[in-house]
Amino acid sequence: MKGAINMSIETKCLHLEDEESNCNHYGAISYPIYQTATYAHPEVGKSTGFDYSRLQNPTRKQLERTVASLENGIDALAFSSGMAAITALMEIFKPGDHLVTDADLYGGSIRLFDNISAKNGIEFTRTDCSSVDIEALIRENTKAIYIEVPTNPMMRVVDIAKVSDIAKRHDLLLIVDNTFLSPYFQNPLDLGADIVIHSGTKFLGGHNDTLAGFIVTNKKDISEKLRFIIKTVGSGLAPFDSWLIHRGIKTLAIRMEKAQENAFAIVKYLQTEPKVKKIYYPGIEGTKGYEVCKRQARGFGSMLSFEVESAALAKHILKFTRLIPFAESLGGVETLLTYPYTQTHADVPEEERIANGITDCVLRMSVGIEAAGDLIADLKYAIDSYDDYAGQYV
Ligand SMILES: *Cc1c(COP(=O)(O)O)cnc(C)c1O
Repeated sequence: MKGAINMSIETKCLHLEDEESNCNHYGAISYPIYQTATYAHPEVGKSTGFDYSRLQNPTRKQLERTVASLENGIDALAFSSGMAAITALMEIFKPGDHLVTDADLYGGSIRLFDNISAKNGIEFTRTDCSSVDIEALIRENTKAIYIEVPTNPMMRVVDIAKVSDIAKRHDLLLIVDNTFLSPYFQNPLDLGADIVIHSGTKFLGGHNDTLAGFIVTNKKDISEKLRFIIKTVGSGLAPFDSWLIHRGIKTLAIRMEKAQENAFAIVKYLQTEPKVKKIYYPGIEGTKGYEVCKRQARGFGSMLSFEVESAALAKHILKFTRLIPFAESLGGVETLLTYPYTQTHADVPEEERIANGITDCVLRMSVGIEAAGDLIADLKYAIDSYDDYAGQYV
């Protein structure tokens, strides 16, 4: 230990503030993959600090410490996927507990809450947390507020500090899924959240090649509960996958910057397209989310959704882009187009989907790090070619 130094977020993607000696691990600059299930003990009652990889593994620990550092938490736990993280988190609640959640959440989270958590006796009330009076929905058995900022896929921006005040007044936990902006642009714990969730599959990993999930907290009691849960349910991230996500994080800063720059360029192009009726991106000045996002985050990210004039056109675009794949997921170096209506949000009850504005005309785009001009040309080709093919879709 050479003494801790104060680091900015770009540097924290590469170094821990209390980094161990450069000469540990034979001087390896890339943290080694400890591909082991178990560990030898020196004698009874003594341990190297590692006993069995379900509990902890050095590679996973290095990754967890990095993510905790990026989110300014005291602990981060790495799971085998974002859903594994959220599933484990639900274990801190008990039958009869009630949560208020945003109505516009990742479809998989809604599926988990409605089908698994509900079966375990946990109750949910969903609402638009960016505009509705959450306080009126809090009951005697309410234990937490669960939000995503911005929301998926409508990109609404909830005021985290405002919701945190409500949570504190009622002694509730505030849980924020921070997948869309990543810790590079937003740190919910600094704004009053108690728990941050990430699908590490997305921006943290960044390469569309590995599933992972995180829970980060700044509360010791929550960390202890979660450590017990990860050890007991066994959904911790494997050593090699931990290494892949750790490697991905090294380029988080430059990926986020480039992807955001591309997103702005694409929004600018979409604004000139008469067939595009609405664009949902918090970086558009004058929109509801813009001021809130500007206040609570360091950027607007690279996720956007847009509504085109017809479902037929939406389907045509998904079929006719040549560069941009039509695929689920987000946050990777490759730009992807998603159709929330039949993909990520297919399991959300129809009336809720419509109420949220997730119609069959909405496309969600995760903007990657390609040349912006190539992405725009690809979108333009798909949109412009529609009139030649329109007959096909009726
Ligand atoms: C993808 C995603 C999840 C689920 O993560 P997986 O790694 O796919 O299990 C949760 N929340 C958000 C916002 C997501 O985008």
